[in-house]
Amino acid sequence: MEPDIRIQPQKLLHYNETHQIIICKPCQYAIQPAALDRHMKEIHALHRHRRQPYTDYAARLPLKEPSELLGTGSSMLLPEDGDFPVPGIPVISGLQCLNVGCGHLCVSVKRMQSHWKAEHKKSGCAALDWQSVPLQTFFRGNLLRYFTHPALSVVKLPDTSTENVDRQMNAIQDAWSSHAAINQTDKSLLAHYLRFTHFSLANRHGNARLWQISVPRIAASNCFLRHGILALSAQHILNTEHAQSIDNQQLTEMASKHHDKAMRAFKATIDAKPSSALECHGIIAFIHVYTLFYFSNYGKDTSSEFQDLFLADATRPDLGYLSPWLHYVRHGCHLVCGFWDTIGNGPLASLAASWEIPIMMEDEQSSQIATVLLSVLDHNCFDGDQISDQLRDSYVQAASDLALALNAAQSLGSELTIWDAIRLWPLTLSLEFVHEVKKEKPRSVFLLACYCFILESLDDFWFAKGLSKSLSSIICTKLNKCQRELLQEVTDGITSVFRQSIAKS
Ligand SMILES: [Zn+2]
Ligand SMILES: [Zn+2]
Repeated sequence: MEPDIRIQPQKLLHYNETHQIIICKPCQYAIQPAALDRHMKEIHALHRHRRQPYTDYAARLPLKEPSELLGTGSSMLLPEDGDFPVPGIPVISGLQCLNVGCGHLCVSVKRMQSHWKAEHKKSGCAALDWQSVPLQTFFRGNLLRYFTHPALSVVKLPDTSTENVDRQMNAIQDAWSSHAAINQTDKSLLAHYLRFTHFSLANRHGNARLWQISVPRIAASNCFLRHGILALSAQHILNTEHAQSIDNQQLTEMASKHHDKAMRAFKATIDAKPSSALECHGIIAFIHVYTLFYFSNYGKDTSSEFQDLFLADATRPDLGYLSPWLHYVRHGCHLVCGFWDTIGNGPLASLAASWEIPIMMEDEQSSQIATVLLSVLDHNCFDGDQISDQLRDSYVQAASDLALALNAAQSLGSELTIWDAIRLWPLTLSLEFVHEVKKEKPRSVFLLACYCFILESLDDFWFAKGLSKSLSSIICTKLNKCQRELLQEVTDGITSVFRQSIAKS
């Protein structure tokens, strides 16, 4: 029988030119060239004469064999400039192993746990050893290989050669220039960011390439992120005295000029509600950049009275009296609402998701610290300040969380990053508690003083150098003599709990 010429194969099949594969539209997966005829017969119950137009169509197209496409690993890598998600196939929420050099992808915690036992010879831990990522697979069955957004494959990519990095950096400069007038000073600030500053934004799992390549790419067409990056870079040079060609005065001006421009554009965008996914990627990245900038400036501005106590800012009723950095970090997902799914499938998926993972560890040591901190609440040096039962709950919560945070920070040791330090405590605090800090209530300020213990471990990072000290000295002016003595006692108490644990291990 003659083939049915009324059949239009494109109605059922989609040819993906980038990957040179055929995707079956109703089935939502790719079909190997050799299996097309069988697929049409078995899945779509087409008789031979009706299948012919499909096989003819496929025969005219350049197609890749699955082996060319998938490589040999357990998961595959999209090319760095590959589009994700690939249209026509579903996005699945999956997991990525964070062990250095691994990057294994799978879809369930159970599978990830067995991967850890088999490959890394220990049982991994949810928050530290893997992260949520969006996944896709071209094929099903034997040829099932997951892949994720190329920007998220960072842990697995080998170090790119310097030549390659140079080329990418030039491409980023060109992209910026095509969107805005970039003068020579801005160019050198961008170059400094691309070479050095981006490392400061990375998390413990080596996502530096995300900050070096993907984020600047997004910034090309995003005014506030561009200025935010330049402000941070200027501040970085200033704080680390890399400055040679540009003098300090000029750098200070640059940092504050770019910061102001960034903030104005950022506020305008969130007031007007973001209207594109790209703007939302920009918002998520900017919150990180801005937080670092805020940290690096805290307590440095001697001309103004301290209106803020790091967590709370008495002059910002518009932000619920939260410090702007904390407000944006806490409300990031609301700021991009409507685009949350798009972000979850985009290059910054892991950044957005990382804020939602708790990293607390409850054990004997943390409960010892909790006992120390909770006893503070009833200490007689706070007798002059009554708290209602309802508020008491927020205090108990804050003190217990702080105990877990101190414990977790101690076990992370030198691996602790700024993002951990934020997730551990400030992010979990109730608004009631932050309002108590804003009113400078002694117990709340006291607990903040204990949090400085964690900030102290960040002192080696340029953006947090001296932060713990300046916050502590501001706090000390808010406490009376008896409370300051108690602070010393508590600090000693916590130190001795840690010392015992070191002695035991
Ligand atoms: Zn099909
Ligand atoms: Zn692994």
